Amino acid sequence: MVNLTSSETHMILGIRCPSCDSENMITSQTEYDVEHFGAVLFNITKCPKCGYRYTDLLSLEKREPTLIRAKINSLADLDIKVIKSGTATVNIPEFGATITPGPNSEGFITNVEGVLAKVEDALTFMLSSADAEHIKIGQGILKQIRNARDSGSHFTLIIEDPLGNSSLVAPDPSKIEKRRLTKEELREIRFGQYASNSSEDH
Ligand SMILES: [Zn+2]
Repeated sequence: MVNLTSSETHMILGIRCPSCDSENMITSQTEYDVEHFGAVLFNITKCPKCGYRYTDLLSLEKREPTLIRAKINSLADLDIKVIKSGTATVNIPEFGATITPGPNSEGFITNVEGVLAKVEDALTFMLSSADAEHIKIGQGILKQIRNARDSGSHFTLIIEDPLGNSSLVAPDPSKIEKRRLTKEELREIRFGQYASNSSEDH
């Protein structure tokens, strides 16, 4: 099994809420020691007034730009632990699904099944305002995702993190391929991030 040992939780008060402007947001920080990865600081920030909430995490060790890949072939692989920071891009090429880091991008600690659930939620939300053509494409992807969750069908999970704060952790380390991002890949990620930020701003 993958071990996640948490130490004590600290609270930080007095952060301004981006949603309602209240200055009473509360951040709780918990340090985790993730086996085969090291120490991470996990933050949950909540606004008691309006309920706005976000999470992020930070690796407490020096990292380099990293690409991590896992081939998912079975239901057991859905339990592979996923540590995703706010700067990471998550990509499942077989489904045509990508989670890119936006201005409110969240960091989370979950497993592969949890990532599928997040992609499904995001897609379902997008489809609520999509046109007929995109609904058809989206429903095809949703079907593949549900199939993967139910039967562990084959797909690839790729995480690219320019700051290296993310990781995949499996009981069998040979399931995980990890390498430094090339300069070209790094430039594309940065450009991608700018492109999505500017299209959201204007
Ligand atoms: Zn608020």
